[in-house]
Amino acid sequence: MSNEKTEGVVIRLADFSESSKVITWFTRDFGKTAALAKGAKRLKSSFEAAIDLLATCRIVFIRKSSGGLDILTEAQLVNRFRPYPGNLSNLYVGYYIAELLDALTEEYDPHPELYDAACEVLRHLQEHDDFQKSLIKFELTILEEIGQLPQFEYCAGCSRELGPSESYLYDAGNGGLYCQDCEQQRHGNVRVSRGTITILQKLSDENTLLSQRLNLSLQQQREIRQLLSTTMSHILGRRPKMAPYLQL
Ligand SMILES: [Zn+2]
Repeated sequence: MSNEKTEGVVIRLADFSESSKVITWFTRDFGKTAALAKGAKRLKSSFEAAIDLLATCRIVFIRKSSGGLDILTEAQLVNRFRPYPGNLSNLYVGYYIAELLDALTEEYDPHPELYDAACEVLRHLQEHDDFQKSLIKFELTILEEIGQLPQFEYCAGCSRELGPSESYLYDAGNGGLYCQDCEQQRHGNVRVSRGTITILQKLSDENTLLSQRLNLSLQQQREIRQLLSTTMSHILGRRPKMAPYLQL
């Protein structure tokens, strides 16, 4: 057993007993961790402020060496998640982010850059009345971090550079786009236009800041949503629960 200290975002809450909860966090130093918060459901418990979904906290927990649940000993609230006033979509996007972090990461597998990306998108959802670009950037980051970022420059069939074309066929099963030659014999369920690919390339570059000018047309947003939705569904083996709330 050892005492561990880190910062994390609450991504799942489950009742454990009459008075206790199991809190799953995505932390900066340990990746996903789950800890038992004894007495968390009692009024005025010491964890009271920290047990909201998507809250960011500084935590201390006892890490069990084998089996058994880690035990939460301290949780200090850093930020409670409050989506932009009156914007229900931003709340749902927050839930979707929690779902992806929970489903796509492993316990004790740290990804500090993904942690920063999660904090950045949650901050955006609190301060801005929109979510498209920030959500896309986060989704591309999580795909990159788990080694599943689609290939946007080379053909997923023949590995040659994608030639100039108005649009490309995307195949989530193969993690990429097809060139004109390969397209004939391949299956794919999403068609993506040239301009949309350029935007995906820009947003998957870590040096691209959200503040940069990058306007997405409704058509481009739809294409990207379709592409990312089929990609996530393919990796998870099911459609994300929150996906219906992100439809355009
Ligand atoms: Zn090809």
